[in-house]
Formats: sequence, structure tokens, C-alpha cells
Amino acid sequence: MEHSKIPYSLNSKKVADATRVWLDKRGVKIEEIAELVMLLQQKYYPDLTMEECIHNVEQVLTKREVQNAVLTGIQLDILAEQGLLIPELQDMISNDEGLYGVDEILAFSIVNVYGSIGFTNYGYVDKLKPGVLERLNDKSLGPVHTFLDDIVGAIAASASSRIAHRKQAEREIEKGEESADQAK
Ligand code: MG
Repeated sequence: MEHSKIPYSLNSKKVADATRVWLDKRGVKIEEIAELVMLLQQKYYPDLTMEECIHNVEQVLTKREVQNAVLTGIQLDILAEQGLLIPELQDMISNDEGLYGVDEILAFSIVNVYGSIGFTNYGYVDKLKPGVLERLNDKSLGPVHTFLDDIVGAIAASASSRIAHRKQAEREIEKGEESADQAK
């Protein structure tokens, strides 16, 4: 008799926990992503604190689309390190081929969640590659971070966008207006 498979059901908590665990295993600290957020937003909000930046990064990481992109990207980086990809794909991902843009497309699924400000911020950090992004881009260090660098930039850009939307909502509430903030 055939063994019946246990029906699949999504365990959201496990996926959320795995996202945090794997970012950490790949050497990325929440604080480092928050530092990118601070860099992107401090000129607009001089009173912005690191605690706020960390909080916003953590909120972005609670989104399912974000968790899916993080885990997918990290998995592909790891498979590339292990040499387990289809040879042609293996060469492109392990060498971070400039004409291979799927890493950026995957990152877009993160910035998409928070609207167009996210795209602008993502483009900015992607060009500048400050802080943790410089380390992730350093090919001499060994590990493959073809996907992770874009993912980290996209999380920071999304957290920045979330702050911008939130600050607007706060201003409206202060003025006694009803806020229509969409960026949860
Ligand atoms: Mg990349």
C-alpha cells in the first residue's frame, strides 16, 4: 500500500524564525541593516534613532514576501558555494555575472511591498554599497553573496520607505487628521 503523505500546511512562525536564523548564519546582523536605514533617512529625520531603524527593519522582516525572498536568495547563494547548480547557472551566480539580474528581481519583490520610495532607496544603496553591503560585495572573502547583497539592500530600502510612510501618518495624526497610512 502507498504511504499517504502528511498534507502540507504553511507554518508561518517557522518561516519567520528561519529568516532571522539564516540572515544571522550568513553573517548579517539586524543592526547592520538598521545602519543602512539610518544612512538613508537621517537627512530627512534628524531625530531618527537607531532603535527606530532596528524596529522598522524587524517589521519589514515580518512580511511573508520578504521572508520568502530572503530564504530563496540565501538558498541559491549556498547552493552556488556548494557547486550544486546547473553548470551554466553555477558559473553566473558564483561569479556574480553582471548580466544576470535575477538577484535584483528577487530583491524587487521585497521593495515592492513598500511602494516606490523603496525602489529609489534601493537604487541608491545598490550604487553606493555602504557598510555591510561593501563586505557582502567583497569577492575576495570567499562566500557567495550574489543574492544576499541585493536582499539586504532591499530590506534597508523597505524599512526606509516604511519610516517615510509612518512619519507622514504621525504628522497627520498630530494635526488631528485621519491617517490613511498603508505601510504596516
Ligand atoms: Mg547581487
